[in-house]
Amino acid sequence: MGAQLGRRVFFCLLIWWVLGSASCGRGGGTESFSMDPNRQAERDRLVDDAIIPHGVRDPAVIAAMRKVPRHRFVPPSYARSAYIDSPLPIGYGQTISQPSLVAEMTEHLTLKRTDKVLEIGTGSGYQAAILAELVDRVFSVELIEPLARQAERTLAELGYMNVKVRVGDGHEGWPEEAPFDAIIVTAAPEQVPQPLLDQLAVGGRLILPIGKDLQQLELYRRTESGYERKALTLVRFVPLVRPGGGK
Ligand code: SAH
Repeated sequence: MGAQLGRRVFFCLLIWWVLGSASCGRGGGTESFSMDPNRQAERDRLVDDAIIPHGVRDPAVIAAMRKVPRHRFVPPSYARSAYIDSPLPIGYGQTISQPSLVAEMTEHLTLKRTDKVLEIGTGSGYQAAILAELVDRVFSVELIEPLARQAERTLAELGYMNVKVRVGDGHEGWPEEAPFDAIIVTAAPEQVPQPLLDQLAVGGRLILPIGKDLQQLELYRRTESGYERKALTLVRFVPLVRPGGGK
């Protein structure tokens, strides 16, 4: 009697163990869905396999890329793909940029802790969080209100108190907070918006994609007498929209 019950219990435990480990195994393997909710190992792999090979060298930028949890900035349905070096949809027809491009653009800004930085195109808030790791004050402008609000929530949940988000047209910059030591535009205008050049401090850097479908990444530096311009790589960003629909 006792032995039979014992065998039955053993058998049930065996089935439970087999089924349990099989279902835990799903989503593992090549997708390597991490048990660590912070997903540090996946981020480190992204940095080592994609961002450093892309040519990014600045230790502070690399540390920020290792730290900021990108999976928290993408919609839950894309969270699994957050550590692939690829852009991802964030709703409203917009995308979060490819991590290696985020790192490359950030590095070009040659930031120091005391810099005041403006971002145009908050989107998910991910680029703003990377900036917030590197400088004391970040200002970010987003045209689509629900994206701005969601980004604010994510940034607050993660404890980024040094980012201010505002809903508005990024073509105008943020005149009340100017001048900025650095400005990064993460949507593409067809020409450089003059207010952004005007809102740079002397010595300040502006990085932005210019063009229609395929864009040229450009870096401007304000000097005592004008601006220096450097053409960088070709990139593909969503357009910087004119709220009225005009050019
Ligand atoms: N930096 C973002 C990704 C930006 S996607 C991130 O890290 O997630 C480009 C963003 O620019 C989109 O959210 C889009 O709504 C916004 N955008 C487009 N035109 C704009 C404008 N005129 N002013 C401000 N934001 C604009």
